[in-house]
Amino acid sequence: MSLPHLPFDPSCCLIGGQWRHPTDLEKLELKNPSDGSTLTEIASGNENDIGEAIENAKNAFDQCWNTTPAAERGRILSNLGRLVLKNIDLLSTLEALDVGKPLTQAQADVRALARYMEFYGGAADKVHGETIPYLEGYTVYTLREPHGVTGHIVPWNYPMQIIGRSVGAALAMGNTCVLKPAEEACLTALTFANLAIEAGLPKGVLNVVPGLGAKAGAALCAHKGINHISFTGSVTTGRLVQASAANNIVPVTLELGGKSPQLFFEDANLESALPFLVNAGIQNGGQTCSASSRILVHRSRYNEVVDHMSQKYKDLIVRPAINDGALGPLISERQKSIVEDFISKGQRLNLVAQGEIDSSAPTKGHYVAPHLFADVPEDHILAKDEIFGPVQVIMPFDTEEEAISIANGTDYGLVASIWTNDGARQMRLAKKLKSGQVFINNYGAGGGVELPFGGRGFSGHGREKGFEALYGFSTLKTVASYHQ
Ligand code: NAD
Repeated sequence: MSLPHLPFDPSCCLIGGQWRHPTDLEKLELKNPSDGSTLTEIASGNENDIGEAIENAKNAFDQCWNTTPAAERGRILSNLGRLVLKNIDLLSTLEALDVGKPLTQAQADVRALARYMEFYGGAADKVHGETIPYLEGYTVYTLREPHGVTGHIVPWNYPMQIIGRSVGAALAMGNTCVLKPAEEACLTALTFANLAIEAGLPKGVLNVVPGLGAKAGAALCAHKGINHISFTGSVTTGRLVQASAANNIVPVTLELGGKSPQLFFEDANLESALPFLVNAGIQNGGQTCSASSRILVHRSRYNEVVDHMSQKYKDLIVRPAINDGALGPLISERQKSIVEDFISKGQRLNLVAQGEIDSSAPTKGHYVAPHLFADVPEDHILAKDEIFGPVQVIMPFDTEEEAISIANGTDYGLVASIWTNDGARQMRLAKKLKSGQVFINNYGAGGGVELPFGGRGFSGHGREKGFEALYGFSTLKTVASYHQ
């Protein structure tokens, strides 16, 4: 399938409301992961382009966005949400071609992006400070103010959802933005920015500079004109981003990886749990930060869960994204070989089930069949490292303490879920699990935009989504007035 017509030149950056080529005219090829073909060329922005984008964002902040009434900011975001929904076919097709995401999952991402705009549009005029009782003669209150120019670096796996939660919250609070999408997939980021202009977002409030991480991304993080950085990506890059932020003493939100467990206890309902046990691991080909890649099962139910999960795995077929299977290809040849390398490290493990690659899938696509390994020791690399592919491990446990210890036994702490009907156990575990989110008798809760999200340990710090993100994208000022 060829690329749909775009109402802008995808080899340009959007700076100050104008589509323009990068200053050194360098371009990158954008590939279709389903067949390895070239979709189009995109800009390879450099530090000059980043500098210009930041200057435009600063001017837009000073001259209009900071003083635009919160209700008006909200109205523009709500308009943008409606435009996103109106363009669901275009955006989901672009995401399927660019990311290799099955169409149904791409459509869900478009709806999530629209919902972020609706939520943050509605919330823009509902965040306020407090008055604080203090000494006689004083009136003390707090103001929530925007940081100024915010930098947003997003990965390729969920471009629309991640832009929705970070750019949406930043704009709602009155910040202006410079967005650096991933070099592997950036068409929906560009299309979203074009829709933002149509929705009435003033020029320069949202700027997009595509390009390589080590060039455009690093320049964005190092620039002294950036007042806040929101980064979503790998732990390795997260360290570099945090070091740059430390150099300029600016706040940074890091949304990194995960190795998220589901804990299935002896009294749990397998029929309700089964779809979550499998889907949470293989959705988006397992290229999900909050993928559930570890399944911990009480020994009394272990064989039953292994059998049922294996059965499900045997029905999983990997297809080209546009054919809309349960899984599409991985993003790149590089990602495919990383995942295959992990799978080869499981050679001596108990591979209990494997999905299938559709026989008609193009040979140049980056397809990997889902793999399910059982009886995996907790210190095995497959049980500890983030694989970012369709690979899950199952391991038995005997006691609640052992389950907690295995669950908390990695460097990560993003998401965890508990399957049990024992109320006291639910409460105990919710407290004891080292995780940014805990789900009880579900996994992910449908990904609601209202639910604060973020990690501990190597999964990062800071929170996005919900109202919490609005606090992160603002700074608190305390005003104490003395009047006798
Ligand atoms: P990555 O760190 O390689 O790239 C992410 C982004 O950072 C890209 O836009 C890239 O261009 C940019 N980048 C790369 N080098 C940079 C540098 N030196 N300075 C500034 N920016 C730079 O990550 P990836 O492999 O593309 O993404 C996968 C990782 O992202 C996984 O570890 C996954 O768990 C994580 N992730 C986390 C979340 C979350 O919300 N916690 C969501 C999605 C993905």
